[in-house]
Amino acid sequence: MRTERKSNQVVRVILFIGLVVVLVAGYQAYRWFSNQGRRAPMVFAWLRNPSAHPEWMIKAGEQCGKAPFLMPTDGLVGFLWGDSFRPGHSHQGLDIFGGGELNQTAVIAAYPGYLSRLPDWKLTVIVRIPDDPLQPGRQIWTYYTHMADSAGNSYVSSQFPPGTNEIYVEAGTLLGYQGNYSGDPNNPTGIHLHFSIVKDDGQGQFRNELEIKNTLDPSPYLGLAVDASLNPGDIPICPDNLKSS
Ligand SMILES: [Zn+2]
Repeated sequence: MRTERKSNQVVRVILFIGLVVVLVAGYQAYRWFSNQGRRAPMVFAWLRNPSAHPEWMIKAGEQCGKAPFLMPTDGLVGFLWGDSFRPGHSHQGLDIFGGGELNQTAVIAAYPGYLSRLPDWKLTVIVRIPDDPLQPGRQIWTYYTHMADSAGNSYVSSQFPPGTNEIYVEAGTLLGYQGNYSGDPNNPTGIHLHFSIVKDDGQGQFRNELEIKNTLDPSPYLGLAVDASLNPGDIPICPDNLKSS
């Protein structure tokens, strides 16, 4: 009799825990869906017909106000720093969709620095900036990726073959072209550049770019509102362009 009552209690506790888990997961899913999806329809509209929305586009080489970086490519900044593609995930950089074909939309250096490409990098280069223009004395890194097709054929400029180490590049130097590599040849991404600013580890190396805590909000560097937590639904463009248009 006593053991039966005990096991009933255990069942009740398990049911209660289960209910809590379901409620928490449901709440997180609700928050995720309510925050997402405001920009996504604009991204798809852009990819279908970029010429219908020239006002959504940033231009490679443009500088916004007093921001230190040049725009690294042409296109629509569709996914922002801190955007989430699934619960628990935060996007570490910007996805800029050129709206053109593969290997067509140029990617340029946003700021001068020392470019490296690891021996196994097909779609990526990284540029070391010894002196952060917004926090002098600190070293940071700019990371440019998705410059390959779905099969992994590289669109990185032939100036920077795999194994390139610490080649000085000026702002505006051609680095490569936008691609759609996803890792799965049958399911490529939209054609874009993924651009991020990566923290230094303090030993002169870049931190793991895949975690948002190892990256910086690119907003003040570009002069664009690209922190997703502060810009839940708008397409980021330079405010100066708004005034002049
Ligand atoms: Zn991305």
